Amino acid sequence: MTIRQLSDTVINQIAAGEVIERPASVVKELVENALDAGASRIEVATAGGGLSLIRIIDNGSGITPDELPLAVSRHCTSKLSEDIHDIRSLGFRGEALPSIGSVARLSMRSRTQGADSAAEIGVEGGRVSSVRPVAANPGTTVEVRDLFFATPARLKFMKTERAETAAITEVVKRMALAFPEVRFSLSGTDRNSLELPSVSADGDGLLRRIAQVMGKEFSENALAIEAEREGVALSGYASIPSFTRGNAMQQYFYVNGRPVRDKQLAGAIRGAYMDVLPRDRHAVVALFLSLDPALVDVNVHPAKADVRFRDPGLVRGLIVGAIRHALETSGMRASTSGAE
Ligand code: ADP
Ligand code: MG
Repeated sequence: MTIRQLSDTVINQIAAGEVIERPASVVKELVENALDAGASRIEVATAGGGLSLIRIIDNGSGITPDELPLAVSRHCTSKLSEDIHDIRSLGFRGEALPSIGSVARLSMRSRTQGADSAAEIGVEGGRVSSVRPVAANPGTTVEVRDLFFATPARLKFMKTERAETAAITEVVKRMALAFPEVRFSLSGTDRNSLELPSVSADGDGLLRRIAQVMGKEFSENALAIEAEREGVALSGYASIPSFTRGNAMQQYFYVNGRPVRDKQLAGAIRGAYMDVLPRDRHAVVALFLSLDPALVDVNVHPAKADVRFRDPGLVRGLIVGAIRHALETSGMRASTSGAE
């Protein structure tokens, strides 16, 4: 038996197996990077359900030419935090770009704000090209072509182009809800176009972004939710009982601006609407929790959106209480003892 160290490419491909499940995961990672770079405009274009092409253009901070090789290297991040329990950016693992580069053809061109030149780097199936000067606007453009060409086994797991396109649209919508002041667009040959002009970052803006993303009808049938307890703040909108869906797909949750999917949060919504909705109907919500990052663990898994709260009971109680209160004050729910 011989024990050997795996090559960087293989290590990155293994990581990609976790982080990059499908085209929508690439879009999620790249949009997060653009947001972390402070972009106010993010343009996403896709072709072939994102398998042929994903292109993301942002007007964020950009990357200097000498840092481009670092950006595509494993465990290299500018969001460095020696304390992984105090994460304020969306990314922090320094894994996405090298992972994507190990399974696809990635090119990244960037110009920092104020610089008068731009540069580009490429990674194809793990092979990194040298940095070359190019012409570009300030900001960053990332192009990912032929996703999974280097890992054909993964390609076999892809659903139809339509399904992959739908998943991409969902990712963009989910991120867009959390960043109303950022203008998002989605275009390309996948016929998934979306234009979300920037709105203000306040409650009014949020409601307008909700109308853009979740439909005007929801925004007109939603109650404002606002509550705070022991340093945990909750805000957002929740549907009135007559506005429901057959599944819980339209329940959006955010923790410190990061989209999450979480059984406990979904459970809290069921609890809140328990006696006003039949079992097979689901409320529509967009809820934002903000709390001290030390009180929540978002590191559970790179691709999964679950979270762990230090005090899950507090969070549940806050959500259930706030929604019931909103239903009661709007006359949508008879006032009861309030006991859950
Ligand atoms: P992470 O986001 O966890 O740091 P990534 O692999 O996604 O890891 O990105 C690595 C680094 O590349 C980031 O920390 C950032 O410095 C830089 N970077 C990536 N995308 C962008 C972008 N769109 N604009 C500016 N910098 C970027
Ligand atoms: Mg990232």
